[in-house]
Amino acid sequence: MQTITILGATGSIGCSTLDVIARHPDKYRVFAVTGNTQLERLMSQAKACSARYVVVADENHYVRAQELASAMNVPAQILCGAQALDHVASAPEVDAVMAAIVGAAGLLPTLAAVKAGKRVMLANKEALVMSGALFMDAARQCNATILPIDSEHNAIFQCLPADFKYGSLEQSGISSILLTGSGGPFRERPLESFADISVEEACCHPNWSMGRKITVDSATMMNKGLEFIEACWLFGTSADQVKVVIHPQSTIHSMVQYVDGSVIAQMGNPDMRTPIAYGLAYPERVDAGVEALDFMTVGSLTFDQPCHDRYPNLQLAIDACRDGQAATTRLNAANEVAVAAFLNKEIAFTDIARVNSETLNQLEPITVSTLQQILEQDTLARDKASALIRGLR
Ligand code: NDP
Repeated sequence: MQTITILGATGSIGCSTLDVIARHPDKYRVFAVTGNTQLERLMSQAKACSARYVVVADENHYVRAQELASAMNVPAQILCGAQALDHVASAPEVDAVMAAIVGAAGLLPTLAAVKAGKRVMLANKEALVMSGALFMDAARQCNATILPIDSEHNAIFQCLPADFKYGSLEQSGISSILLTGSGGPFRERPLESFADISVEEACCHPNWSMGRKITVDSATMMNKGLEFIEACWLFGTSADQVKVVIHPQSTIHSMVQYVDGSVIAQMGNPDMRTPIAYGLAYPERVDAGVEALDFMTVGSLTFDQPCHDRYPNLQLAIDACRDGQAATTRLNAANEVAVAAFLNKEIAFTDIARVNSETLNQLEPITVSTLQQILEQDTLARDKASALIRGLR
């Protein structure tokens, strides 16, 4: 029996995680669920999975959360704030943590789980993009196991040799990692109309059902850029060893190419319960509730190169990956601010890349290594991006 904390339980990944867990009451029990604004959903989840703790990230919602818990007869203990998130991520009773808070807000509780030596199922890619070396060093020093949940990285993990060691691509006979991406909803849309893309259009992914921030990131392909950086940190590769391949059907979730000409791909229906179930059960397998891939109906699988004019954010992220930690932290922060402004209908779709690129251009290159320096760069880039957005209004 594994005891699990779900950070970001109310989100898309959190709900899918609870769905998989509910299928295996003999294998998993929930220690804590956390959320931020969706309090009713959080309380229903806590009741349904008999969680011991509920954590509301925003302290301003504590009183309302307690009222709801008592009205809904939720027996869990209700906590709030950053310290409580760290507590449920690192408590001795916890075996594994699903890190599924969106954005930089997930960094500190995910790091708390890493430092407590937990098995960390990492969906929150932004945490790794912000703090790559620090995060991976902490995992090594504290014996944490990092299991990638992002479907692409989970696929790569499944395609690597079982004895693969961080950074040992050449020794393992691997020539490159092929990171696939659908290209999002605007793969064929005329470039001249990109400035008119509405929030509703950007929030409609052709293959995957996800939270709003990652859905917009998929439309700009910043998501693939963040995944590019994530892949380099997770597997210890250089930027030259990762290649992005457009694969509109999202049937292949990524591939590993070997020096002998072999390519190993992981395939399946686009349903996040597959990588989640893999993370929960690793190294075993459990039923995820996902339908088997039916090759008689899959149809053609196609592949293409990414067009960087269409997806300027992808190139920005690849460049930032080469530039180092300060650049990736700043890019992630600027992008979170720009996407939030787009979702609030304050800026155009095309302004997202503009704000990201200008933020990077206007900040001097520096080297960062400590958590404090990383958090400072995050704040600096958020302030810069916000100022740029005010200038665009
Ligand atoms: P959602 O937006 O659906 O959910 C985000 C979760 O984070 C919610 O539980 C939300 O709480 C919580 N949250 C938001 N802001 C804060 C905050 N400031 N402090 C604490 N908690 C907060 O996102 P997704 O589930 O789509 O994505 C989660 C992560 O997983 C992201 O990093 C994403 O990139 C990654 N991922 C997602 C995939 C997907 O298919 N969805 C695929 C691969 C990776 P509330 O809702 O209560 O406000």
